[in-house]
Amino acid sequence: MGVGGLGIIRVSGPKSEKIVRKLFKPRKRVDNFITHHLYHGEIVSPETGATLDEVLLAFMRKPHSYTGEDTLEINCHGGPLILQTVLTEVSKAGARLAEPGEFTRRAFLNNRLDLSQAEAVIDMITAKTDRGLELAVSHLQGKLTGKIETLRTSVIDVLAILEASIDFSEEGADVEQNSEISKRIQAVVDDLHAMLATYEQGKIYRYGINAVITGRPNVGKSSILNRLLGEKRAIVTHIPGTTRDFIEEFTDIGSIPVRLTDTAGIRRSDDIIEQESIALVREKLSSADIVLIVLDGSEDLTEEDAGIIEENRERKALLVINKTDLPHVINIQKFHQLAPDLRPLWISAKYGDGIPSLKEAIYTLAMKQDKEDHHSTMMITNIRHKTALERAATLLSQAKNSIVNGFSPEFPALDVREALESLEEIVGKTINEDILDRIFSNFCIGK
Ligand code: GDP
Repeated sequence: MGVGGLGIIRVSGPKSEKIVRKLFKPRKRVDNFITHHLYHGEIVSPETGATLDEVLLAFMRKPHSYTGEDTLEINCHGGPLILQTVLTEVSKAGARLAEPGEFTRRAFLNNRLDLSQAEAVIDMITAKTDRGLELAVSHLQGKLTGKIETLRTSVIDVLAILEASIDFSEEGADVEQNSEISKRIQAVVDDLHAMLATYEQGKIYRYGINAVITGRPNVGKSSILNRLLGEKRAIVTHIPGTTRDFIEEFTDIGSIPVRLTDTAGIRRSDDIIEQESIALVREKLSSADIVLIVLDGSEDLTEEDAGIIEENRERKALLVINKTDLPHVINIQKFHQLAPDLRPLWISAKYGDGIPSLKEAIYTLAMKQDKEDHHSTMMITNIRHKTALERAATLLSQAKNSIVNGFSPEFPALDVREALESLEEIVGKTINEDILDRIFSNFCIGK
């Protein structure tokens, strides 16, 4: 609930029409509501006869609605009090409040969407970059569903052959047939691995990465954060140690959602608050996907700098040398010895020099590739899907091994059947209530 131009109250279920009849007074008489039409009128309290709001109302008859049930949408004016008042009347007329994601859950239960498409709905809503949105839309349109369906058909074929041969297993294994089945299983396993390979990048589009900016005070961390965000978010001052709290912001780098964290400068200090915040910095750094180590190019390398480089040795890091607009003082040889693998990036946060290269370097390091991938729209972005695909691949490989080793067909058949279930979990053909609860609890109310 918030303030907006419009606020929509959605109602789904068999009592929708009854609710319309009770509360809605159309401008012109309506005997039969035509589905998917907008009607102008008023919401009137049945008890007092008071007009509560002037609205546009649409009635969508089942099964052609989002949920597959009779659905009502009341476009009210967007004030929270108006919405609350109308909502109270709607409840009195026979509705109850929806659970988070209940509309989409009903859409799934009524076969309007499969589970991977329902998940795509929330991915669309929460997408932070164009690419993330594009992938979510392609999943909603059924790209993943189609792919799973193809794999499912292949697995069912294999299962049919195996199950048929169970009945004849007394007669001994048919060598030719076995090699044919093994080949087919392997083809599915290869497909699964190809899909799984997209997850490394796909997850980044969906979940994003954490990039933490570290370095001693006053080297220009906040200035770099602002440059990367393209706005002045962090307070920049020349007094060392001003950034005591974290500043975390999302930005879009090459269509990857990047959560940038500007940390308090690390330096040796007796100040308790500062010591605490340094402990927090270490915690942030340990959960970073990428660390930007910032040095001041207009000063010589200090012991603190060396300590910071040393501390981040094992992490995916970029070495950023700032303040290139000032006379060059830093001694490159020294940090070459400290961090032979890190190629320094020279920038001036003050004037923006080198910022595009820094963004490119962040992208390349995160994705482990140079070019932006803008082609494939079938990417695995969801860990639930990844786990199910992995399980299917493992079970199928196991089945293939049993066949190659001449086991009786009951054994591989068992694994293949489980692999099939695993694939079906992705689209929600076999799924338990707990998993559904977990998925839909991530939704907002009203979606
Ligand atoms: P932080 O403590 O590491 O976050 O550093 P700040 O971003 O607060 O910057 C510290 C000081 O350095 C400020 O006075 C900035 O204006 C200045 N500064 C930051 N980047 C540059 C730069 O590229 N060139 C110059 N000349 N000054 C900079």
